[in-house]
Amino acid sequence: MAPTVTDATGQPGANGSAGASGTAAASGTTGTAASAGASAQAGAGAQAGTSGQAGATTRTVTELADGRELIYYDRGTPPTARAVADLRPLDAVAPSSEVRQDPMTGAWVTVAAHRQARTYHPPADECPLCPSREGRLSEIPAGDYQVAVFENRFPSLAGEPGTHPVPPALDDPLHSRGPGIGRCEVVCFTADHDASFADLDEDHARLVLDAWTDRTAELSALPGVRQVYCFENRGTEIGVTLAHPHGQVYALPFVPPRTAKMIDRAARYRAATGRNLFDDLVAAERASVGSGSVASASADSPAGNSPSDYPEDSRVVLAGEHWTAFVPFAARWPYEVHLFPNRRVSDFTGLNEDERAEFPRIYLDLLRRFDRLFGDGERQVRAPYIAAWHQAPAGHEDELALHLELFTVRRTADKLKYLAGTESGMEAFMNDVAPEFAARRLREVGQAPAAVSTPETAPDTTPDTTAEEAQR
Ligand SMILES: [Zn+2]
Repeated sequence: MAPTVTDATGQPGANGSAGASGTAAASGTTGTAASAGASAQAGAGAQAGTSGQAGATTRTVTELADGRELIYYDRGTPPTARAVADLRPLDAVAPSSEVRQDPMTGAWVTVAAHRQARTYHPPADECPLCPSREGRLSEIPAGDYQVAVFENRFPSLAGEPGTHPVPPALDDPLHSRGPGIGRCEVVCFTADHDASFADLDEDHARLVLDAWTDRTAELSALPGVRQVYCFENRGTEIGVTLAHPHGQVYALPFVPPRTAKMIDRAARYRAATGRNLFDDLVAAERASVGSGSVASASADSPAGNSPSDYPEDSRVVLAGEHWTAFVPFAARWPYEVHLFPNRRVSDFTGLNEDERAEFPRIYLDLLRRFDRLFGDGERQVRAPYIAAWHQAPAGHEDELALHLELFTVRRTADKLKYLAGTESGMEAFMNDVAPEFAARRLREVGQAPAAVSTPETAPDTTPDTTAEEAQR
C-alpha cells in the first residue's frame, strides 16, 4: 500500500515505506522533518514538489519564526507555494510545565502556568488560524491552505520528548512529579474561518484523516510519548477560545485516566472470556440491527438511511460497511456516540484504504446529525461538542481499539449539561437522556432535508455566534 502521506518534495514520508503493515504514514523524527522543511523552502521544492497522483495527500514541512514546526497537508499538488516564510518578529516561548501524580487515584495532572497568557477570544479579523494576508500576519504564513498543523505557541506539554525519564520514578511516592514533556499541536481543518468540520466536503475530511494519521505516526515514534490524542472542541460552551475550525493533537508522556481504565477493563474481559472487549462490544451493538440491514449496507447504501432499518431499542446510529456508530449502553452525556471501525485497529495508522475511503461520509453524517438535534427548522442551534479519538498507548496495541467518542454538553436547545456535584465531585455521571432515546433521535435527524450543510449552502453563521445567540 502506498504511504498515506507523501512529502511535497516528491519523497515518501521518512518512514513511509518502512511500515511493516504498509500502513505507516510519514513518521520521521522532529529533527528530520524540520530540516526537510528548511530545504524544501530554500529550494522552492514545495512549489515544484509533486507526488503526482490526484487525490493523494502531500505535506510540506516548514518552520515558524520562533522555531516551531508548521506542516501543510494538501490533497494532490498544492495549488500555490506552501513554504512561505514567517515574517513575524516572534520570540521563542519557553514553556515550562510539569506533571504531577495524584497519589490517591494515580491520575496525572499537567500544571502549565505559562498558558494564562494565551490568546483568548480574538476578534475575527485577528484570528491567528486564518491564512496570512498583507498587513496581517497569522500563525499560517501562506495566503491559503487546505489543512495546516503547527506546534502550539502556548503548549500544555513541550520540550523534546524523551529527554527526561517520563514520568520519573521518585523516591517520594506521595509527590511523584516530572517535567511536562510532550507536544501539543493545532490542526487547522480549513482556511475558511466561518466553516465548521461538518461543512467540509468528503475529500477535505479525508485530508484531515490523513493529517491525523501522519501526526499519529510521527509523534508516537518520539521517545517518551505514551499516547497520541487527537481531538476537537467545538463551541464556546465547551470553552473554545478560537472560533476558527480547528482541533488539537497531544503527544502525552503518560497514559490518561480514561485510557488506563479501558486497559484494565480490556485485560479483565480477556481474562474472563478469552476475547477482546472492543470486538465483542461492536459486534453486540451491530447485532441489534436487523441483520439484513447491516449485511446489505454498502458505501452507496449504508444501513441507517432509514430509521425503520432499526428496532426501537437499538443504540446503533449508523452502520456502514467498515464503520459503526452507536450510543454507548452507559452513555454519560445527553448525546454521546462512539464510532469504531468494524475491524479493530490500534490507531489511525492501522486503517486500510477501504476504511479510510468510507470514513468521511460516516463522520460528516454524524456531525451533521449532531447539528440537527436542537434546531427547530427556523433556527439552527449547532451542538457544542467534543470529538475525542482514543488510540492505543505504546505497549497496548494488542487490546485497545481506535475509536471516536463524540458527545455534546447540550441537553435541549436551551439547556446545557453542567458537570456538577456528582460528576465533578465523584466522577459519577447522571444522564437525563436515555441512550436508546438518544439513538432514536440521532437516527431520525439523519434525513432532515434542509439542514444538510454543504460548502455551497453552508449557513452564514459561525458556531460561536450561533451558540451565543442561543444563550441570549
Ligand atoms: Zn480564522
